[in-house]
Amino acid sequence: MGLLSLGTPLHWNDSRLYADHVRTNGIIQLINCFNAARDRKNDPFLWGDEVEYMLVKLDREHKVARLAIDKDYILKDLGEDGSSFEVAVSNNVVFHPEYGRYMIEATPLQPYDGTKLEEFEYVEHNMRTRRQIATKELGEEDVLPLTLTSFPRMGVEIFTYPAAEPDGEASKSLFLPDEIINRHFRFPTLTANIRRRRDQKVSINIPLYKDEKTVASGIDPSIPRRNLFPHHDEEPFLGAAKEGHIYMDSMGFGMGSSCLQVTMQAPDVAHARFLYDSLVNVAPLMLALTAAAPIFRGHLADQDVRWNVIAGAVDDRTPYERGEPPLKGHKERGNTLDTAELMRIPKSRYDSVDQYLGDLDTSGRFSYFRKEYNDIESPKNSKVYEKLVSNGFDETLAGHFAHLFIRDPIVIFTESIEQDNTVETDHFENIQSTNWQTLRFKPPKQSAVPEKHDVPGWRVELRPMEISLTDFENAAYANFSVLLSLAVLKYRPNFYLPISYAEANMKTAHRRNAIVEQKFHFRTNVWEAGEAIVEQLSLDEVFNGSGSFEGLLSLVNRYIKETWGEALPAKLEAYLKLVSFRASAKIPSTAQYIRNFVLSHPDYKKDSIVSDQINYDLLEMAAKLSTYDHGVVTDFFGPELGQWLIDNGY
Ligand code: ADP
Ligand code: MG
Ligand code: MG
Ligand code: MG
Ligand code: MG
Ligand code: MG
Repeated sequence: MGLLSLGTPLHWNDSRLYADHVRTNGIIQLINCFNAARDRKNDPFLWGDEVEYMLVKLDREHKVARLAIDKDYILKDLGEDGSSFEVAVSNNVVFHPEYGRYMIEATPLQPYDGTKLEEFEYVEHNMRTRRQIATKELGEEDVLPLTLTSFPRMGVEIFTYPAAEPDGEASKSLFLPDEIINRHFRFPTLTANIRRRRDQKVSINIPLYKDEKTVASGIDPSIPRRNLFPHHDEEPFLGAAKEGHIYMDSMGFGMGSSCLQVTMQAPDVAHARFLYDSLVNVAPLMLALTAAAPIFRGHLADQDVRWNVIAGAVDDRTPYERGEPPLKGHKERGNTLDTAELMRIPKSRYDSVDQYLGDLDTSGRFSYFRKEYNDIESPKNSKVYEKLVSNGFDETLAGHFAHLFIRDPIVIFTESIEQDNTVETDHFENIQSTNWQTLRFKPPKQSAVPEKHDVPGWRVELRPMEISLTDFENAAYANFSVLLSLAVLKYRPNFYLPISYAEANMKTAHRRNAIVEQKFHFRTNVWEAGEAIVEQLSLDEVFNGSGSFEGLLSLVNRYIKETWGEALPAKLEAYLKLVSFRASAKIPSTAQYIRNFVLSHPDYKKDSIVSDQINYDLLEMAAKLSTYDHGVVTDFFGPELGQWLIDNGY
C-alpha cells in the first residue's frame, strides 16, 4: 500500500465516468516517466522487504484469540508527526497502513544495499526491531503483532475485539463486519466499488478439507439466512456458494491476509525486464515453499495457501467478463467499461503474471525471450497499446501495460481528477497498483532522469510469498529471493518457458502438501538460448538440485562464494538451510505444521472445523514461535535448525 491520498472518494456510479480519463492520463504519465528514465544506467542494487502483521488479542483468562480492531491509532503515533515517529525513523523503520484495521505493514526506511554481505544479516535485525517497536507501541501484554498469513476464525461468529457484527454497508458481508476495514475512506470505498462494479458480492469458494466427519454435501450449513441486504444476502443460495467448499463473500478475507514482498532495483530497464521475466516461474515455487494458510473461515481447506482467496476477494469482473452466467434470476449485463471494447477477461485483477516483458538487449533484440512464450490469453486495451507503441515502447512492453490497462480504476478521489502529467503519477498508479500480480514491474517517476541516482530507478517486486511466523524465516525467504535475483543478473540463466507452464505451477502451488506430493514445470537447459526443455521436478529438485538442473540453492551459493569469498556467515548458512529443508520437506511447511496442529488437537472432531479453542491454542503457539520459545522451536524447525537457533541466542 503506498501513500494514501486525502479527499473524497467517488461512488462507483460517478467514478466510472472518469475511467477513461484516468487511463488516458495515466498512460501519458507513464510515457513521461519512460522518456525521463529509459536511459538510466548503473543504478545500485538496492532492495527492501515488506512485512504485514495482524494485531491479535490473546485473552488468556477466557482462552480466546481475537483480531484487535481498536489499535489502529498506533499507525498514527508511529507515522509522520506522531509521538513515536522518531523511534521508528531512528531505527530505520517505517510503518504503513494496510487493508485491515487490525493490520500494519512495516518496511526498512532506507533500502538495503545488496552489494554488502553484512546487509543480509541486518535484514532480520531490522525485522526484529519493527516487531519490538510495534509491540512496545501497543503497550499491552496480551496484544501482539503476529505474522500470520490468515486468521483461522476470520468470519466465524465474533472474531474481533471489541466485538463487531457483520452488518456493514461497505461489504454487505454475511460474515465480516465493516469495522475490520481500515478507517481511511479509500478502503471501504474500494470494498464497495468492487461489489458495485461486479454487480454482486465477491464469491470465493475454496475446496474444503474432507475428514471422516466433514459435512461436504450441499453448501456450507453455517452460511446464515438473513434479510438485511435483500439481494445480496440471497447470493450464496442462488449459486454463489459451491457445494463442498468454504464460501467467503468479502474483500477482507483476501486483502485481510498477510504476505511478504521484496522490491529490488535493477541497474537499468533492460536488466529489470530480464529479472522480472526470470522470476515469473520462480514466483509459484516461492508460494509453494512458504505455504502457510490451510484454514479459512474456521474450516480446514483442501489447499495450503492464500493466493486464490485474495484473487477472488477483489475480483471485480462482471459475469460477462468472467464468461459465466449471472446468478439465478439476475440479468445478463455487458461490460461496465463504457468506452473500451466489450471483452472477456480470463483472470481477476489479483492473480499471477500473464505476460513476459521480454529481455531486450542493447541492440533492441531479444536474447532469450521468444514471443511464443507468451502463450496465455491476455486481452489488451488496444487504444493504450497503440499509444505506447507510437511513443517508442516495443510491442512486448506495450503489451504488458496495455494488459494492465484493461481494468477500471476502482477508487478515484474528486480532488485528484485533474493532474499535472509532467510531475504526477497518481492516475498511472491508480491502475498499476490495483493490478496485484505475482510480480510488479515498477517504473521510476518523471524526476528519475539518468543522472539522478538518488531517486528510485527501475524496480521489480516479488509478491507471491506468504508471511511466516518468525522473523528468522521471513529474513531467510527475503534474502534467498534477493540472492537468487543477484545470481540471475550475474550469471544469466535462461529460465524462460511457455508462460502457461508457470500458470499451471501456480495452480499446483495451491495444492495441499504440494511440496511432497506435486511436481512443477521447470526449464532445465538453463545455460542455453534455444528451445526450452521443460521437465517436471519436485520442489526439492528445483531448489536442491536434480540430475538435470543444479538447483536454485547452488546458484545462490555460487554467487555468494564468487562475490564475497569462501566463508559463508553462519546466519546466512542457516537461512539457506531453512530454504533447503523446507523444499526437501525435511521440515514441514508452515501450512502442514498448522494443519497437523489442528488434526491432532484434542478439541478437533474430525469435521474440518477449527473451534475457538483450537484457534486460541494455535495463536498461542504462533505467539510463542514469534519469540523463539525454546519449548516449541525444535518441534517447528526440526532438531538441527531448532538447536542452532537456541545455541545462537534466539
Ligand atoms: P509498495 O507497497 O508499493 O510495494 P512499499 O513502500 O511498501 O511499496 O515497499 C517498497 C519497498 O521497496 C520497501 O522495502 C523499500 O525499502 C524498498 N525500496 C525503497 N526504495 C527502493 C529502491 N530505490 N530500490 C529498491 N527498493 C527500494
Ligand atoms: Mg502490503
Ligand atoms: Mg507496501
Ligand atoms: Mg456494525
Ligand atoms: Mg495485503
Ligand atoms: Mg509491495
